[in-house]
Amino acid sequence: MKKQLLIIGLSFLMFACGSTKQKTKGKLTIVTTTGMIADIAKNVGLDSVQVTALMGPGVDPHLYKATQGDLSRLQKADIIFYNGLHLEGKMGEVFEKLERIKTVVPISRQLDSTVLLTDPIYAGAHDPHIWFDVSIWASTVNQVLATLIETNPENEAFYAKNAEDYIQSLNDLHGWVREEIATIPESQRILITAHDAFNYFGRAYSIEVKGLQGISTLSEFGLKDRVDLVNFIVDRKIKAVFVETSVSEKNINAIIEGCQQKGHNVVIGGKLYSDAMGAEGSAEGTYIGMVKANVNTIVKALK
Ligand SMILES: [Zn+2]
Repeated sequence: MKKQLLIIGLSFLMFACGSTKQKTKGKLTIVTTTGMIADIAKNVGLDSVQVTALMGPGVDPHLYKATQGDLSRLQKADIIFYNGLHLEGKMGEVFEKLERIKTVVPISRQLDSTVLLTDPIYAGAHDPHIWFDVSIWASTVNQVLATLIETNPENEAFYAKNAEDYIQSLNDLHGWVREEIATIPESQRILITAHDAFNYFGRAYSIEVKGLQGISTLSEFGLKDRVDLVNFIVDRKIKAVFVETSVSEKNINAIIEGCQQKGHNVVIGGKLYSDAMGAEGSAEGTYIGMVKANVNTIVKALK
C-alpha cells in the first residue's frame, strides 16, 4: 500500500514539474542565417535544440553567398530560420528550393507592414534591419516560438516559458536603450555609420541617423553624397562617426579626411555591430550583449 502511494506521489510530482521541461529525445537541428536569429532560437529552445548560424562575426549578410558546407547544413536541418525582407539578398533562391521540402521560415513573416520602414532606394521594399528596434525584434520571438511548437508540439509549455522569459529580457533592454540614448544632448544625437542599417534604431530611440551607403552594402557611395555628408558634419559640429564590424572602413575614412580639410576634427567613435554579432563566447556574441555594446559606444562618443 505504501509503495503504491509513493508511485502515485512520484508520478504526480513528475507531472507537476514536467509542464515546462523539454520532452524530446533528440535535439532539433536549427540553421539560421545571422547570429541574432540563432540567439532567439537558442533562447527559446535551450537544450532541446542544436543551433548553427551560417554568418559568423564580421560577415555581411547582404553579400553572403551559401558555401557547399552551408548547403549541406541547410539540407540536414529540421528548421531553417532567416531574416527575410531581402536581407539575405543572395540566398533567396536557395530558400525557395528548400521551402518545398522542409520548414523554412523568415522570422519577419508575421510583422505588420505598418511597423516596417520602407527602403528609400528600392520602391516597394522594406528595410530589413529590424533587430535595431529591440521591441520589433522581441515580437519576432513569437514566430520562432510558433515554428518550434509546430515542429515539436510535445515541448509547447517548455518553449512558451522560455520565449516569455526572453521577451521579458528584451523588453527590459528596450527600455534601457531608450534611457541611455536620451542622455546624449539633443544637438549631438546624430548617428553617422558606414551603411544605412540604423534607421529602426533612430526611429525607436529618437536619434537622427545617416548612413554613407544605402540600406544594402551593394549600393555605391557617390562623390556628391560624400560632399553633402562632410558639409553636414561640419555644419552640425558632429564629434564622432562610427565604423561597422561587417562593412569596410574606406568610406568613413574619406569622410573624416574631408572634414579635416574643412578644419573640423571628427573622430571614429568606435566600431558598431550592425549586421553581425561579436565572437561566440564574448558578451557581444549575444544579441543583448551586442545591443548593449553598441549603445555604450554611441553614448560614450556623442555625449
Ligand atoms: Zn545591412
